[in-house]
Amino acid sequence: MLQRVIDAHIHLSERPDDDLNRFAKMNNLRYTLDELLRSMRKHKVERGLLLSPPLHGGGPLPNEDIVRMCRKSDGKLAPVVTVEPTAGEVDAAVKFAEENRKEVKAFKVRLGYVKTSAKSPVFDALYDYAEAEGLPVLFHTGDTALSTGDLVHSHPLELDAVANAREELTMVLCHFGNPWFEDVAELVYKHPNVYADISGLTTGGGAYAERYAEWLAKKISAAVYFAGGAEKIIFGTDYPVTTYPEALALVRRLEVDESDKEMILWRNAERVFGL
Ligand SMILES: [Zn+2]
Repeated sequence: MLQRVIDAHIHLSERPDDDLNRFAKMNNLRYTLDELLRSMRKHKVERGLLLSPPLHGGGPLPNEDIVRMCRKSDGKLAPVVTVEPTAGEVDAAVKFAEENRKEVKAFKVRLGYVKTSAKSPVFDALYDYAEAEGLPVLFHTGDTALSTGDLVHSHPLELDAVANAREELTMVLCHFGNPWFEDVAELVYKHPNVYADISGLTTGGGAYAERYAEWLAKKISAAVYFAGGAEKIIFGTDYPVTTYPEALALVRRLEVDESDKEMILWRNAERVFGL
């Protein structure tokens, strides 16, 4: 199909205590840096953003490990710094981003996995820094990979107040708030600084896999009609949750102009993350 792709949402740890190993197994993926880079080449994915996966016990993979893996990727992967909701962790994450400022492209807040709202003042220092440096903050929104997730905090409407208070903060709502697509469409339409990624939406098979894929494509297409364009929608896989063939098939299914698909596949990510 189209010439270029940027994947704005990839996980990797190469550790046995990674909670996403079960998705890797389900998708017959080895879930290694080697396999990821090979798969990216095969599907013409030029660049990717690497995010910490959740580990057994609830914490994320340390940011140092993410930066280390990016350095082994031959310029293909750029790190996203995960920020946990304590004053100490926020300070450490900002300091870490400052020390690695040439490489770091964004921050990530794990709403729904951490028991804290995006509106909590604990994130003020993060938002101040991200605004000042022009670094986007990615927010997990919608369904959580673990059944113990906290959906009240990961509901996309939680982010309306943050976007109101922080007009200079570039916010990316991950997974399009699945299943709250219309709420995310409204936030993307309402706020000039709010974007959404389409990562991690299709996973596994199931009896209605084909119908579900159709439903997803309709939801995302409708969001494009509602917002009047695709300038704020960003491609991602959430590897190993979704594979490249599945994620690219979703974009192919969208009933929108080719120029909008091009924006989704790489133009928006290139602009928003400065890749
Ligand atoms: Zn993810």
